[in-house]
Amino acid sequence: MVIGAGYAGLTAATRAGRRDRVTLIAPETRFLHRVRQHETAAGHPEHRPAVDQLLRGRRVTHLRARVTELDLLGRKLMTDSGQAIGYDTLVYALGSRTAWHGIPGAAEHAYPAERAAELRQRLSEAPRPGTLAVVGGGATGIELAAELAEAYPEWQVRLVTADEVGGWFSAAGRAQVLRVLERLGVRLYEHTRVTAVGPDGLHTAQGTVEADVVAWAASMEPHALAAEAGLTVAPDGRAVVDAYLRSVSHPDVYVIGDAAAVTLPRVGTLRMGCATAQPMGRYLGRVLSGRTSAPFTFRYQVQCLSLGRRDGLVQLVHGDDSMRPMVFTGAVGRLVKAGIVRLVVAILR
Ligand SMILES: Cc1cc2nc3c(=O)[nH]c(=O)nc-3n(C[C@H](O)[C@H](O)[C@H](O)COP(=O)(O)OP(=O)(O)OC[C@H]3O[C@@H](n4cnc5c(N)ncnc54)[C@H](O)[C@@H]3O)c2cc1C
Repeated sequence: MVIGAGYAGLTAATRAGRRDRVTLIAPETRFLHRVRQHETAAGHPEHRPAVDQLLRGRRVTHLRARVTELDLLGRKLMTDSGQAIGYDTLVYALGSRTAWHGIPGAAEHAYPAERAAELRQRLSEAPRPGTLAVVGGGATGIELAAELAEAYPEWQVRLVTADEVGGWFSAAGRAQVLRVLERLGVRLYEHTRVTAVGPDGLHTAQGTVEADVVAWAASMEPHALAAEAGLTVAPDGRAVVDAYLRSVSHPDVYVIGDAAAVTLPRVGTLRMGCATAQPMGRYLGRVLSGRTSAPFTFRYQVQCLSLGRRDGLVQLVHGDDSMRPMVFTGAVGRLVKAGIVRLVVAILR
């Protein structure tokens, strides 16, 4: 049984389901495709294939439900439709969601990526353009700010972050990010920690940043069910797994994707990302269908950003995700990123 149909869970299910019967539990009828949610916020068409279409020809039964409780000793789970379902093998792939970090007012007043369609509606139906603050200078915040500034040029877009915007990139990579944001008119508030969000905008240690609309992209947190069920979790809430992606406390449970804290020799602890989730899903699909008994291996190659529809960044990295000096920018960067996003969907099957 696989719970969660994101990049990790769906990729594992389609591969395991070539040979064996698999039950896949997840609520959505269309693939979530989170890496394109910033495009949705900007009003671009959604590219979300139907889950059942992706499962065609596989021995996978998709149960549209949410898991509410896990009984690891009894090998069963409960769903929001009140069903108790037993399993032989469990693959836990519930992913992550936007983290609010306990900031007062954030969940009430800010739009996370999960509410991208509501954000689009709010911006496109506003009686007049105003100020829009994006919180978070990581990859998601940068992509969101660039996309929104390009799609809604009459709005004043601000990008607010506790550290530096794209500060982890190589010098050339960060320069590209800053150049595009400047071209799109995005005003940066770096080293500005948000302490509260209200109807007037952001409250920070440095004063108020006025905003009519706030979008929140200040990191992700794993689903709480892993800890609630008693799986051993890292301080960030991800379930700690061994070299075969089995829970260290419950080796009969596999954990993959953003839900898993995977530490590999000479690579370190993998970051949450589609880039790491999908290779875990592919690997586990091979394990479950008996095609490998080797431990999981992974090395980083690139980090990619879309910067609106005309620009992008491909940052080459070493296997441990540290920066190489070389980058591809402009149309090349954008096309490579767009190609990767399409490839991700092809690999789901
Ligand atoms: C706007 C945006 C852009 C991004 N861009 C990139 C990028 O360019 N590169 C990159 O590497 N990463 C990117 N990410 C991060 C990436 O989307 C995540 O790391 C990735 O989605 C994790 O995949 P996953 O399969 O572990 O989980 P998810 O994709 O989060 O899927 C989780 C699955 O579990 C299901 N689920 C949740 N709760 C339950 C429940 N209780 N019961 C049953 N099912 C449940 C969900 O419905 C879903 O099917 C981006 C994220 C966002 C928001």
